[in-house]
Amino acid sequence: MGGPLGIGGGLIMLVLALIFGPGVISDGSDGAADSYGDVGAGLSPADSAREEPMVQFVSFVLDDVQKTWAEAFQSAGQAYRPATMVLFRNGTQSACGVGQAAMGPFYCPLDEKVYIDLGFFNELDSRFGAPGDFAQAYVIAHELGHHVQHLLGTDAKMREMQQSNPRSANELSVRLELQADCYAGVWGNSAARRDKLSTGDVEEGLGAASAVGDDRIQQQSRGGVNPESFTHGSAQQRAEWFNRGLQSGSAQACNTI
Ligand SMILES: [Zn+2]
Repeated sequence: MGGPLGIGGGLIMLVLALIFGPGVISDGSDGAADSYGDVGAGLSPADSAREEPMVQFVSFVLDDVQKTWAEAFQSAGQAYRPATMVLFRNGTQSACGVGQAAMGPFYCPLDEKVYIDLGFFNELDSRFGAPGDFAQAYVIAHELGHHVQHLLGTDAKMREMQQSNPRSANELSVRLELQADCYAGVWGNSAARRDKLSTGDVEEGLGAASAVGDDRIQQQSRGGVNPESFTHGSAQQRAEWFNRGLQSGSAQACNTI
């Protein structure tokens, strides 16, 4: 590696600023997750074969959720621009900086991509106690909810509000996250109407929404709960808003901002 050493440090600073800057909507588990190893290590062929069913499932959900939103946008006279998804293990590059597994799934509005670490799906079961395919579908639908917010300009509006009122930054972040949970429920409603859900799916989704509540995660990683530091909402709030979308099937019912 050549070049002046200073550039390396500068780049790292820049990347960190991008990761933790206001553009990224990260759904990580507050950085307390285990590190998976080197950033940039791709999937090995063995992993790919083992993970093939998971990759297929993820692609199916991605398409189904986006089809649902494309139709909703069309009926409202708006154009839907599809997001793409990047599946990774360990770490990956995004327009928002380096994504690492420890961050959990995230949406980058700069490249309009959803980044999902496949290991997170195992964690949902083993660490968060939320097993099942619909728990995974909820995560994907939540991230695409952030994409919908981006297309509607809701995320930009929220960042403006955060800048003019920094003291309510966490509360505003919670409202954005609960709306994304509600949007995930709106897709769940559509899937249910099309008979795509099987017995137990709704419970799995509600379980996953609660499992990633800030209080649950804080209790688990720090042994205590501080509601003022919540950025995604409590277990009860997250399940409530997911359910609100699920019952109503209406994006209008998800207005939190
Ligand atoms: Zn989120």
